[in-house]
Amino acid sequence: MTADQQPLDAIIVGAGFAGIGSAIQLRGLGFSNIAILERESDLGGVWHINRYPGLAVDLPSPTYCYSFEPNPFWSRLYAPGQEIKQYADHVADKYDVRRFMRFNTKVESARWDDDDKVWLVSVAGGQTFVARFLITATGFMSQPCYPHIPGISDFAGKIIHTTAWDEAYDFAGRRVAIIGTGATAVQLIPELAKVAAEMTVYQRTPIHVVPKQDFAIPRSVQKLFARMPWTQRIFRWLTDTQSAVVFLPAIRYRQLRVLAKSTAKLANMQRFLAIRNKELRRQLTPEYDFGCKRPTYSNEYYKAFTKRNVHLDAAGIERIEPDRIVSTNGSETEIDVLVLATGFDIWESNFPAIEIIGRHGRNLGKWWRANGFQTYQGMAVPSFPNYLGLAAGPYANSGLSFFNMVEYQSRHMARLFTELKRRNAATFEVSELASASFTERMERQQRNTLLHLGNCASSRSYYFGPNGETVLRPNTPRAVLAEQNTFPLTDYSFS
Ligand code: NAP
Repeated sequence: MTADQQPLDAIIVGAGFAGIGSAIQLRGLGFSNIAILERESDLGGVWHINRYPGLAVDLPSPTYCYSFEPNPFWSRLYAPGQEIKQYADHVADKYDVRRFMRFNTKVESARWDDDDKVWLVSVAGGQTFVARFLITATGFMSQPCYPHIPGISDFAGKIIHTTAWDEAYDFAGRRVAIIGTGATAVQLIPELAKVAAEMTVYQRTPIHVVPKQDFAIPRSVQKLFARMPWTQRIFRWLTDTQSAVVFLPAIRYRQLRVLAKSTAKLANMQRFLAIRNKELRRQLTPEYDFGCKRPTYSNEYYKAFTKRNVHLDAAGIERIEPDRIVSTNGSETEIDVLVLATGFDIWESNFPAIEIIGRHGRNLGKWWRANGFQTYQGMAVPSFPNYLGLAAGPYANSGLSFFNMVEYQSRHMARLFTELKRRNAATFEVSELASASFTERMERQQRNTLLHLGNCASSRSYYFGPNGETVLRPNTPRAVLAEQNTFPLTDYSFS
């Protein structure tokens, strides 16, 4: 489809779980002329690009899936990454949305054409797509972060970022350095520790790691879930509730501070049981409160540091030379391979992930930076008609599971698009007033949360933006879901 052809119903940017879910929702609402534009060569988002050893979901799998398509066959409570990718493939095929996908298609910008009431979406290579509706489903983790460390470009050995894993590279017998101790590193370090000759972990900020109650789901139970889906619904209710219980003290910190603190004790206990060396334990102990950073789960992480071949460097990297890393304390470590578990650039290149220009030339990224990060219900923005930013905008993220977002945003879309059709309207746009009042409510409720009241100063958490702002939605996933049934449709104008 090019600029001189009939507009598509919708363009969805990103073929991860949010993109797949919104395509299914749009089809259900009667829109079938859809293009899903995906930069990568396959669908699945982070579950396509991440292939590092140890990759697994860090929430119970029954909670980490679409409620309309439960998977009875998860092999473990915390399914490995490969199974999640297979699940994404299965859903895309079963609901027949793969045919909308165009891979290796990198969207660069989108501009609203107020005369023709369409979005003009430009992709690398010069092609322009035209559509009535624009949905960005680019996720929070789409732009890998490459650290700026003096000398890194002169390193002569192998460099691997965890989002571009080289499956052909054999770590056995190698001298490995790994930078980062976030959720990815927590999964990867125990795996690399099994094969590396020597491994040094460069930690800038320690992380709280709580025990992971993982287990294989027996075949008989999987069969039961398949034959009697209600049994799996009960199981999901339990895992949803468990995730909510972990999340709740963070948003009701004023009332549940004790509970939040007690979770940190689990991490302390795990460290104490795994590590006898007091100095090592001290270095691995965060000073900030549990919950300032995304919680991480592992039974192996702390134990890995007690292995003979694993070393912790908490001094900080001064520079990298062609064959070694020099620390600020003067120690030098020769290495063969440098693994960057340095995560993603969340704030700079993610809000939004592409250039989006609305009515009167309003540039979304610039407007957010000048006026504060804001959305209506985590999705809609005034002056951006027929646009929804899914699972990647300010106040979109509710709870710990990405699927919490996908679920409530689908429900929001259902009411919004049904109303649009009912009125036989061509466009929708959220009002300035509704958006401002939603943002004001979010900011007010934020003041009750751990991120505002807790001790997060030393956490270096991506939950905080460059000016200390936080845009996690301070409501329970169930409350957010319920709100999608009641938000006033008059918050939007239809024309
Ligand atoms: P991350 O949490 O942002 O961690 C990045 C790590 O790299 C941090 O330890 C950071 O240190 C360090 N780092 C970055 N730049 C550095 C530099 N210049 N020098 C030294 N250290 C540097 O990223 P992530 O571990 O990839 O995890 C990101 C998110 O992905 C998670 O929070 C989670 O939501 C998701 N995830 C999910 C799963 C899953 O199973 N579902 C698995 C993995 C990840 P500082 O802390 O000091 O900044």
